[in-house]
Amino acid sequence: MKGLKLAVLAASVSVFALGAAGFAEAGEGYVGISMPTKSSARWISDGNSMVKQFEAAGYTTDLQYAEDDIPNQLAQIENMVTKGVNVLVIAAIDGTTLSNALANADAAGIKVIAYDRLIRDTEHVNYYATFDNFKVGVQQATNLVNGLKERFPDQKPWNVELFGGSPDDNNAYFFYNGAMSVLDPLIKDGSVVIGSGQMGMDTVGTLRWDGAVAQSRMDNLLSANYTDKKVNGVLSPYDGLSIGIISSLKGVGYGSGDMPMPIVTGQDAEIPSIKAILRGDQYSTIFKDTRELARVTVGMVDAVMGGGEPEINDTSTYNNGKKIVPSYLLEPMPVTAGNWESVLIDSGYYKKSDVE
Ligand code: BGC
Repeated sequence: MKGLKLAVLAASVSVFALGAAGFAEAGEGYVGISMPTKSSARWISDGNSMVKQFEAAGYTTDLQYAEDDIPNQLAQIENMVTKGVNVLVIAAIDGTTLSNALANADAAGIKVIAYDRLIRDTEHVNYYATFDNFKVGVQQATNLVNGLKERFPDQKPWNVELFGGSPDDNNAYFFYNGAMSVLDPLIKDGSVVIGSGQMGMDTVGTLRWDGAVAQSRMDNLLSANYTDKKVNGVLSPYDGLSIGIISSLKGVGYGSGDMPMPIVTGQDAEIPSIKAILRGDQYSTIFKDTRELARVTVGMVDAVMGGGEPEINDTSTYNNGKKIVPSYLLEPMPVTAGNWESVLIDSGYYKKSDVE
């Protein structure tokens, strides 16, 4: 009963905020922004870019971080619904846990944008703003192969280990499948050997994208499979995992003496990983410009608030189990020691002093 009253109250607040005609002018409105965690710098940049751009466009914002705790994110979203936001922008921790909360949001007339991560198993998601996630995986594996050719030209077959992202994050499957579209043919023709034999998201996924979990899995892989051979490459889907993987590798002597560092990939172009790339510990990362993702998201919110059509460039890829969510996919950008300055400094994303 209490929930119903709150929903009705929230609905009337939303209607009030939308004005007599039912549609707001672009820039009028209250936007709830639910981000997964502050433990990774990329989500902090996403939150900051959105608040800046929404406020510049005239919106009021409520930005919350859930510290990778699902009940916490649910409570924050429910609270935003109660407060009467007009739109929710959500990067889900677990894309399958929000169905009830979003049904309540829908009953209160609130629109929903899935931000970077697809929200699954609900009809109540209007648009999806993200990067081309399959391409991210293709770029990660392409970097891995380029690095193997460069650092280990005479050592085929290359011994490689695979890491996946969090199995409750839809993106993790796109990254993995994109990467395997490059690696599978090389495994088939014998140029790449998965030393442990561990493949498939069920086996190589890393719950909550946790670097400590990746580090201990790498420790185990090394002690079980690499006492009489060396690992040459590690597919890592995220910089925070790469840091754990690199510590594990260094712990047994890689990166010194006759044990060259394996090629380790990453994603998000976080500062500690750019520094690791410059030291030669990490080989590559993928830059995803959060300012651009915020820009696309503000455009989507303007459209849902004003009754117009946002910029969409994909209407087939992202089936969330209930519907295909109309999406805008931005271009990810591979980064190595060869291009970091032009990609990250010349674009104004970082200052050179942040990195050196
Ligand atoms: C994002 C990645 C990020 C990962 C871990 C994914 O959903 O797309 O950019 O590295 O989550 O936070």
